[in-house]
Amino acid sequence: MARSNQARLNLQALRDNLAHARQLAPQSKVMCVVKANAYGHGAVAVASALAPLADALAVACIEEAIELRQAGLTIPVLLLEGFFEANELEIAAQNEFWVMIDNAQQMTWLETAEISQPVTCWLKVDTGMHRLGVPAEETADFHRRLSSSKNCRDEIVTCTHFASADDLASAQTPEQLALFEKVTAGLAGPRSAANSPGLLGWPQSHYEWIRPGYMLYGNSPFSQPHPNTDALQPVMTLCSAVISLRDLEPGESVGYGASWTAQRPSRIATVSIGYGDGYPRLAANGTPVLINGQRAPLAGRVSMDMITVDVTDLPMVNIGDEVILWGEELSAGEVAAHAGTIGYELTTRMPARTPRVIID
Ligand SMILES: *Cc1c(COP(=O)(O)O)cnc(C)c1O
Repeated sequence: MARSNQARLNLQALRDNLAHARQLAPQSKVMCVVKANAYGHGAVAVASALAPLADALAVACIEEAIELRQAGLTIPVLLLEGFFEANELEIAAQNEFWVMIDNAQQMTWLETAEISQPVTCWLKVDTGMHRLGVPAEETADFHRRLSSSKNCRDEIVTCTHFASADDLASAQTPEQLALFEKVTAGLAGPRSAANSPGLLGWPQSHYEWIRPGYMLYGNSPFSQPHPNTDALQPVMTLCSAVISLRDLEPGESVGYGASWTAQRPSRIATVSIGYGDGYPRLAANGTPVLINGQRAPLAGRVSMDMITVDVTDLPMVNIGDEVILWGEELSAGEVAAHAGTIGYELTTRMPARTPRVIID
């Protein structure tokens, strides 16, 4: 039996999640965020499935955008962090990438560049995230400089990014929205604010462009149930298999550091997936996995290539049985909570070692 780890990718679920995004914001154009290898799912496979249905794609940097062009995709692609050096501007112009203007340095580079054709620009405004974006009170200034630059094409999309939209009780999102409204009042061109939690939980943030990422992959950004997340279908199912079984006496321990000890006669299944395959090492004792569709708790520390699971309460488990680490009946977000992280990190850190298998 070969080692059977797979990250299965359901492309129909991906398309359905995009349709759901459109339904929630029917007036808005959709920019699908596929940065970081499409959150670990595989940039080209994901972008190729989404491109016919999306208005634009977004990535973090020019290398990611070039990968999409080399795969033959002609859809607009926004560089979310703009450009990191002036000479990227000509590459952006030639490939018709859209660029974010985040700060005064990028603005100067844009204004002084000699490029073969103008580029489409988005202007990022800092309304409270304090990571990227021009100071909110200078929005109109930057907008005017962009409008008058020979290197800036078309209309300018003014945008901002939320710090706490996943917390529906947070006062920060209404504050950011109020500031965004104030500094964009009277400016020409479309606006954009909503990431996944904005799209799903803050309808007043939809504007002319939404920018969902995480929800397209079928995951909820909220820690609580929310009606708008019920229809989401996970795109990635991470699977492995049982490779060994043993019975332990009370008092016997399992794994590195002996972090789990049997309290009763126990049956332990060893599964051929570990942190070298994208399963989080910090997943604690008790983290659920699905064996033959039934939940069983992790028992003992995650190794590089294996985990151990307490299957004492499952009726029958055999070598070769399928194990699902996350997917439809067990969300990446739930597993992540047992590992002190978020589902975004689990899929995004999926290494090349784990084969992606496309189900379409
Ligand atoms: C990553 C990113 C998004 C998408 O965020 P999700 O929470 O994954 O939907 C949107 N906008 C910007 C600027 C981003 O960097």
